[in-house]
Amino acid sequence: MVNKVINYKARLILDSRGFPSVRVDLKLNNGIVVGSNAPSGASTGAHEALERRDGGSFWCGKGVDDVLNDLNNNIIPEILNIDPREQGRVDEILLQLDGTAQKSKLGANCLLPLSMAICRAGAVIENQELFQWISCLSESKSSLPIPTMNVLNGGAHANNNLDVQEFMIVPWLAGDFLNSLRAGVEIYHELKSTINNKQMSTSLGDEGGFAPDLKSNLAALDLLDESISNSRYSLGENVFLALDVASSELFKDKYYEWEGSSVAFQDLVDIYADWTSRYPIVSIEDGMDESHDEAWLLLNEILGKKINIVGDDLLVTQVKKINHAIENNLCNTLLVKLNQVGTVTETIDAIKKVRLAGWDWSVSHRSGETEDDFIADLAVGTGSRFIKTGAPARGERTSKYNRLIAIASDHKDLKFKNIGVRFR
Ligand code: PGA
Ligand code: ZN
Repeated sequence: MVNKVINYKARLILDSRGFPSVRVDLKLNNGIVVGSNAPSGASTGAHEALERRDGGSFWCGKGVDDVLNDLNNNIIPEILNIDPREQGRVDEILLQLDGTAQKSKLGANCLLPLSMAICRAGAVIENQELFQWISCLSESKSSLPIPTMNVLNGGAHANNNLDVQEFMIVPWLAGDFLNSLRAGVEIYHELKSTINNKQMSTSLGDEGGFAPDLKSNLAALDLLDESISNSRYSLGENVFLALDVASSELFKDKYYEWEGSSVAFQDLVDIYADWTSRYPIVSIEDGMDESHDEAWLLLNEILGKKINIVGDDLLVTQVKKINHAIENNLCNTLLVKLNQVGTVTETIDAIKKVRLAGWDWSVSHRSGETEDDFIADLAVGTGSRFIKTGAPARGERTSKYNRLIAIASDHKDLKFKNIGVRFR
């Protein structure tokens, strides 16, 4: 039997911030319907694949009618006769139809939901779970990733006074994903009580973490320390910390706007070094601006042997940027976001590139998410050491954790990633 898509529909959905996004559903000739949704970032990298929006006044300018028209009338019809298991061939056609460096013609929010839906279709045809099919496509060994849970939100994701965008807890109870997840959940609730007891706000940021005003960025780490001390877990033993500074948002005229002053990158490196000496921090993401190579080099030289120096806006999940970072020793870990590059194949290529270089990678959500849990399977199927998918609260974040729970409980043979001796 020839495997193919016999019916399809691209439609508008809402993302977790209440803005339009794009869903693509594909009906296969075995009768099964598969679908995937595009996520959307707020602190986006300058070089990431672009989102295409209608502009105008409807939907606050963020309508996607042009994308839907293109998908339904021009793009999906182009790939109908291809077996969905030929992910590379489908993605190559999508790239050719777009033909631009930054996907500015069709938009990443046009290409990606189709590319992901095709990947889901391939899995169905192969009679595999999505992560198993992704493991074939990426030639990886599947494993369960360590959750990095963003429990305190700042920066562009909240309206509080924290410069650092994300303060994450990294629960790691040796050998067991489900116990680690449980630890993360318990600490999240302990944090809420601690914040409540201080009569501070427990309002949430975009990724489901709390967003209180605090007297400094370091005070956020102290607050996590206090909450973890109130729990049954111990910092440095079975729970660690991670940061996403998203510092491109703070960069003005070669300095970083930090707690009300302009700070030079060398001073910022000192601040990070001080924090990592006080607390068991396993990674710092986007510690420096995406264009500030000199600063990344220093940061990686000073802290790269001890912790993961993660490139998000710096690398935008693109092989060209990754090559530049490898050659110039700018960081040692890739943050993986499908919509920064636009197709599943390019995302897997980026992962293969860093794997070859001996780097770690962490599969990530966006701040504007949907209930699509594709990234849970991407993290498992590529054997990612970490997954970054927000607080363990709000449906668009818990959909990923819930998928990981299902995978972990159905596949007892899957190993839980080791956090690495250098962090312990
Ligand atoms: P974004 O934030 O989705 O708003 O870009 C997430 C991140 O910076 O990692
Ligand atoms: Zn980031």
